[in-house]
Amino acid sequence: MSEFDYDLFTIGAGSGGVRASRLVAQTGARVAVAEEHKPGGTCVVRGCVPKKLFVYASEFEEEFKDAAAFGWNVGETSFNWSTLRDSVQAEVNRLAHIYERNLKLAGAELIKDRAIITGPNTVHLVNENRDVTAKKILVATGGWPFFPEQVVGIERAVSSNEMFELENLPERLVVVGGGYIAVEFACIMNGLGVDVTLLYRGAEVLRGFDLDLRALARRQMEAKGIKVMIEADVKCIEKNDDDFTVILKSEQEISCDLVLYATGRRPNTAGLGLETAGVELDDHGAIKVNKYSGTSCDTIFAIGDVTDRMALTPVAIREGICFAETEFMDNPMTMDYSDIATAVFTQPPIGTVGCSEKDAIAQGHEVDIYKSSFRSMKHGFADREETSFMKLVVDAKTDKVLGAHIMGHEAGEMIQMLGIAVKMGATKAQIDATVAVHPTAAEEMVTMREKYEAPEVEVDHTGKQAQPKL
Ligand code: FAD
Ligand code: NDP
Repeated sequence: MSEFDYDLFTIGAGSGGVRASRLVAQTGARVAVAEEHKPGGTCVVRGCVPKKLFVYASEFEEEFKDAAAFGWNVGETSFNWSTLRDSVQAEVNRLAHIYERNLKLAGAELIKDRAIITGPNTVHLVNENRDVTAKKILVATGGWPFFPEQVVGIERAVSSNEMFELENLPERLVVVGGGYIAVEFACIMNGLGVDVTLLYRGAEVLRGFDLDLRALARRQMEAKGIKVMIEADVKCIEKNDDDFTVILKSEQEISCDLVLYATGRRPNTAGLGLETAGVELDDHGAIKVNKYSGTSCDTIFAIGDVTDRMALTPVAIREGICFAETEFMDNPMTMDYSDIATAVFTQPPIGTVGCSEKDAIAQGHEVDIYKSSFRSMKHGFADREETSFMKLVVDAKTDKVLGAHIMGHEAGEMIQMLGIAVKMGATKAQIDATVAVHPTAAEEMVTMREKYEAPEVEVDHTGKQAQPKL
C-alpha cells in the first residue's frame, strides 16, 4: 500500500493536463485531476475551438457574395449574434462533457475544485477544504490574459475570454495588440459586420512571422475594411454615457462600443502555492522546467502554457505525452520544438512552419527565396480581392527547405501536410519532384521554379500600387 493517496495529481484539466492524466491512468496508476472551471481548458472553453467556430461564422458574408457570381440568388441575409454565441456555448459544453467522460473512462478521478500546492507531495482542495497527497504532482494550469496596468481605464477593456459570451455584438470595436488573438478577433468581428479598428504598438503586426506574411496580413485586413493603426500606443480608455473613447499617446481619439485587449497571456501561477515546494519561476511567472518538464522540486512537474515554452494546444498535449512516457512508462522522452507548424486564423488564414527569411539569414544561412502570389480560382471567378501567397525559404548550400509560409484559403490545412516534409528535412529538389495536384491552390507550392530576386519595391495585393519592401 502506497503512502500517498495518488500516484499522480494533476492541477488543470486543459489540453496538457487531460492528455497526461489519461495516459498515466491507463497504466493502472492512481490519478486525480483538479479543474476549477470546465474540463477542456482554454482550447475547448475559451480558445481554439469556440474561436474556430466564430471564424466559420464570420466567413459567410463574403461567401454569400461569392455565391452570386456562381449563379446563386442568396436573397437578403442577416446575422443573429445570440444564435451563434449560444450554439457555440452548447458545443463547448458538449466537448467539456466528452473530456470529463474520457478522463473517467481512462480511470482518472476528476475533482471539480481549485487546487493549490502546500508542499512537495501535498495539494489542498480549496472548496472541499481537504488535503490530498500524491507521489508526483503535475501543474498544467495554463495561462491568463495580460493587461498593461499603466493604461488608465484598462479595467474597461475585455479580454478574449469575454468575447465568447458577449451579451450583444458591438457596433464599433477597438482591438489592442498585433499577435495571434488580436488579428484573429479583428477578422472575426469584421466578418460579422462590426466596425473594427486594430491598434498595434509596433511597425508591423504578427511579430516573429515572416515579413512578407506580416505585410500581406495587414494589407488583406485593410482591404476587408479593418482600420489598422500601427505605432499606436494607448494612453487611456475613457467611459462616456453610451460608449468609450480610446485616447492614444499621440492624442488621437477613437470612439467605440467595446475595447478588446489582446496583449499576450501570462502563466497561471499566482496563488498556486508553488513556493511551498520550492518551485522556481522565471521573471514572467512561468514555471522553470528542464527538458523532461521537471521543476526545481523533484516531485513536481509542469507542462503547457504555465511553462511559457510555446503556447499552442498540440505543444501542451505533446509535453503531456512526454511527461507520461518519461515518468510512468519508463520511456524517457523529450519534446522537439523545432519546425512546429502553426496557423493564424485571419481571413484568409496563415500557415507557417520553420524559419522566416529574416531568421534564416540571422542564423547565418545563405538563402534562396521562392514566392508566388495569385488569386485563387474561386475568388478570381467571384472577382474577390483576396491574395493567396506562398513562400519557401531554402538553404542555398544544402537545398534544404528552412521555412514555408502560406497565406490563403485553407492555409492551416496545407501547412499541416507541408510541415511533415519540412520536419523530415525535405530539399527544394524533392518539393520540385513532387507532381502537382490540379487544380488546387496547393500545387503552387510544388511548381515555384524561379528564385525570387528582391525588386526595389513590392507590388501590393491590388497589383497597382507599389509599396516599399519591409
Ligand atoms: P489550459 O488549456 O489553459 O488548461 C488549464 C486549466 O487549468 C484550465 O481549465 C483552468 O481552469 C485550470 N486551472 C488553472 N488553475 C487551476 C487550479 N489552481 N486548480 C484547478 N484548476 C486550475 N492554440 C492552438 O494551437 N491553436 C489555436 O487555434 C489556438 N487558439 C487560441 C485562441 C485563444 C483565444 C486563446 C486564448 C488560446 C488559443 N490557443 C490556440 C492556445 C491554446 O488554447 C493553449 O496553448 C492551450 O490551451 C494550453 O493548454 P494547457 O493545458 O497548458 O492549459
Ligand atoms: P501574442 O504574444 O501572440 O501577441 C501579443 C501582442 O500584444 C503582440 O502584438 C505584442 O506586441 C502586444 N503587446 C504586448 N504587450 C503590450 C502592451 N503592454 N501594450 C500594447 N501591446 C502589447 O499573444 P496573444 O494574446 O495574441 O496570444 C497568446 C498566445 O496564445 C499566442 O502567442 C499563441 O501562442 C496562442 N494562440 C494561438 C493561436 C493559434 O494557434 N491560432 C490563436 C490564439 C492564441 P509586440 O509584438 O510588439 O510584443
